[in-house]
Amino acid sequence: MTQIFDNYNVKNDTTFKIGGCIKKAAFPENVEEFIQLLNSDEYDMVLGSCSNVLFSSQDVDKKIIFTKNLKKYSFEGNILKTECGVKGPLISKECQKLGLSGFEFLIGFPGSFGGMICMNASAHNQAISDKFVKCRVFDTNTKQVISLNKEEMQFLYRNSAVSKNKYIVLDAEFELDNGNQENINEIMRRNIEFRQERQPSLTLGNAGSIFKNPSNDSAGRLLDLCEMKGVKEGGAMVYKKHANFILNYDNATSLDVITLMYKMFSKVREKYTIKLTPEIIFIGNKETEEQRLWDIMTEENIH
Ligand SMILES: Cc1cc2nc3c(=O)[nH]c(=O)nc-3n(C[C@H](O)[C@H](O)[C@H](O)COP(=O)(O)OP(=O)(O)OC[C@H]3O[C@@H](n4cnc5c(N)ncnc54)[C@H](O)[C@@H]3O)c2cc1C
Repeated sequence: MTQIFDNYNVKNDTTFKIGGCIKKAAFPENVEEFIQLLNSDEYDMVLGSCSNVLFSSQDVDKKIIFTKNLKKYSFEGNILKTECGVKGPLISKECQKLGLSGFEFLIGFPGSFGGMICMNASAHNQAISDKFVKCRVFDTNTKQVISLNKEEMQFLYRNSAVSKNKYIVLDAEFELDNGNQENINEIMRRNIEFRQERQPSLTLGNAGSIFKNPSNDSAGRLLDLCEMKGVKEGGAMVYKKHANFILNYDNATSLDVITLMYKMFSKVREKYTIKLTPEIIFIGNKETEEQRLWDIMTEENIH
């Protein structure tokens, strides 16, 4: 049965390990319960692994559905059917065992399928859209469950029909390639090695890349040239091996992170007249200083 908590502290559910209390949290146990909650109109948003979000350290007036208990999946030959709460690294390892190729990149980060489809997660020249066949979504406008194929999903860099139309992913189907076991092992070994050399492990609070890559460039490269590596603000610090990651190294608050982001954003804008766009999603209340800085970083990108 769905577990529901009032005044729920989200901090330990996020990879950043930052956040205050939200008004209500619901954890459905199956897709039917998930649909019931979505139909109730009571909830403001849906989250998966919370690996791409920054919650305000202050209390947030939101009711949120978390999908982490929607974790059923099955393989039939090279077809994967998965619920939205299943995590990428688990499926990456299952595919490796089955000799299926296409999800080697998922070994490196903790996203759920719902979040990864919404954002069209990608790395190492592979993207979630590559092997996508179809998914079932709840349309929050019509309250209907509909099925969308790859074309209807309009996948772009960190974007899809899900984020544009306020759809909620329930479950999805993928068609993997029958691969060569040695190649799969080798690609996964390289992906893990790449992560270990350049990116922080999840034992250090972080939320992956902070800014999206501008077209034909890399946010990490620009931030590195602006000498941002190691710069600190309160308990937050730009990772010393990769300038597009922020670590929560000492009980950072969301204001520490956003103030540091604003420094990074301002430096790149000043030096290269490029306005970086945040990749992480901020979940907070409108009236705070952090929301003010966030609005500057996002509003300036509209012009
Ligand atoms: C160490 C590290 C490395 C990372 N590396 C990469 C990388 O290489 N490539 C990459 O693309 N990302 C990377 N990320 C970021 C992150 O893992 C991905 O963006 C992932 O897709 C987010 O999935 P999630 O389940 O955590 O989503 P969440 O953070 O929970 O949510 C993100 C967004 O997805 C929406 N969402 C979640 N579930 C659903 C659903 N069922 N239906 C509709 N919308 C939903 C949320 O509303 C929110 O808007 C990294 C993160 C970390 C911590």
